[in-house]
Amino acid sequence: MGAVRSDVRREAAGVPYRLRRSPRARRLRLVLDADGTPLVTVPVRAPDHLADAFVESRRDWIGRQRARFVAQRERHLAKGRLGDGGAIDLSGRPHRIEVRALEPGRRTRVEHNDAAGPSIRVSISPDDRRTLSEILEAWLRHEARDAVRRRVAARAPQLGVSPVAVSIRDQRTRWGSASRSGRLSFSWRLVLTPPAVLDYVVVHELAHLAVFGHTPAFWALVRSASPDADRARRWLREHALELHWSLEQPEADG
Ligand SMILES: [Zn+2]
Repeated sequence: MGAVRSDVRREAAGVPYRLRRSPRARRLRLVLDADGTPLVTVPVRAPDHLADAFVESRRDWIGRQRARFVAQRERHLAKGRLGDGGAIDLSGRPHRIEVRALEPGRRTRVEHNDAAGPSIRVSISPDDRRTLSEILEAWLRHEARDAVRRRVAARAPQLGVSPVAVSIRDQRTRWGSASRSGRLSFSWRLVLTPPAVLDYVVVHELAHLAVFGHTPAFWALVRSASPDADRARRWLREHALELHWSLEQPEADG
């Protein structure tokens, strides 16, 4: 899955991993690949045994990361196909997806209805060229903007700050960010998380308008406004991949 031709499969201390030589690498680097395999990137001339020793020294870390990966993969697969009868989380609760086709001339619409169990109904126009995933993402971004703005409006006065702008993005590695000019941005994927998690990320970024940097004063401010901050951070670490996979079609284990 996505392996570069020059990658070599190796094993160290019982841990299978992928070794990649890169002219840009200055030192050894270890990440988990998209399929959960450890990938070690080394400078071109580094000997193999150096990479083996590195993997061995990081064995516990790899074990923890793999366990987290597998748990998320299982939850993701359990949600089933992204389509009619499948499910997607909204505010941390699974919602059943209902898809139906509209007659020509009607416009695509997405409706959130919890009357008969949490569900999201997607009515698709035959003229709509987008995939279900694209339709859902556009709608979720819209929902995220509303949810985030409501939270910001509720929390900003409590923290004594006033952001100049709030935008919704899809940052790969961050759930939110704050600029020194007072601009906040948030990942639309937060709309998938439990309300306490979205609230924590909003508090976190608002607090940056008062204290820049992750200093003890910053964390004291965050924890005073959000007593569940640590639990929310842990939740994000344990669900990060799952959130990024949310609109992807689950694939069978290879
Ligand atoms: Zn921060």
